[in-house]
Amino acid sequence: MALVTFTELGFYCAQADLYIDPLRKVNKALVTHAHSDHARPGMQHYLCHTDSENILRLRLGQRISVQTLAYSETISMNGVEVTLFPAGHVPGSAQVRLSYRGEVWVISGDYKTVGDGLTPAFESVRCHHFVTESTFALPIFQWREQQSVYDEINAWWRENAAAGLPSVLLGYSLGKAQRILHHLDRSVGAVVCHGAIAAANLALAQSGFDFGPWEDGTAGLSALQDRGVSLGGSLVVCPPNALRSSWSAPLGDYQLANCSGWMAVSKMGQWGGVDRGFVMSDHADWPQLLEAVQASGAEHVHVTHGFSEVLARYLRESMGLDADVVEQALFERSDA
Ligand SMILES: [Zn+2]
Ligand SMILES: [Zn+2]
Repeated sequence: MALVTFTELGFYCAQADLYIDPLRKVNKALVTHAHSDHARPGMQHYLCHTDSENILRLRLGQRISVQTLAYSETISMNGVEVTLFPAGHVPGSAQVRLSYRGEVWVISGDYKTVGDGLTPAFESVRCHHFVTESTFALPIFQWREQQSVYDEINAWWRENAAAGLPSVLLGYSLGKAQRILHHLDRSVGAVVCHGAIAAANLALAQSGFDFGPWEDGTAGLSALQDRGVSLGGSLVVCPPNALRSSWSAPLGDYQLANCSGWMAVSKMGQWGGVDRGFVMSDHADWPQLLEAVQASGAEHVHVTHGFSEVLARYLRESMGLDADVVEQALFERSDA
């Protein structure tokens, strides 16, 4: 039997009795990162990278049982060597290497191979079987050089601030938000974070991550105004649902932008109900996916989590690999 099998509960290594990012309650769950489509509640025991622990507890409960591993540290589980390597997706994200009697699998979770200046950079790991995501596995997805996107965001903010308007940026509270914070030009104005993002920031700060100064909007935006923070020229980072609540009321008129890989396929000027779209993703684009597969040296590639059919067919027909699709029907997107 293969070292890893694909079960209704997710990827399973029977020899180690270990599930990777399982969909439902199991005894031992190795969680590649803390996004909700990978880290689910209710597991007896969690195993994750050291930098994921605080976020995992924040999201799943302080009392969960968690064992942590550093990158490149190996533990043995019933003879199976288990090692985590950086996936470059979000802080604390990891690829899992499983090795047993000469057979090596790498389950990469979500990843990007281009550095974001914050998350430890993706490391390619040689293996026989490589499990890859495929969120943006279409040739039309090719990210631009990231600094130019950060420059665009800062220019947009500066323009709005000059007009006395707050700039609101939508971003997922783990990963995207911190990456944005890390690259903002603080000379323009105050940076304000919604409570959900503030909580993630504080958990990551405990692990030593630093994204520059920001104001904590947990107690509300008027509380910040009372403390002398000017919302007029500020940049506010929040998850999309914050705008449907009274939290955003003190902002009055504002400019709204979204940071997502999906902005690449939005028509110019029609960014799905926002004023501005910035193409920024924590997932690999098409060239990065191909590069990662090639660098793994794997002959067998298992594609999941996105445009799986497209990528698997390309790997078979153009790269001569043994590639198949692993559909985990219950995968829900939470992070693009
Ligand atoms: Zn993710
Ligand atoms: Zn994911």
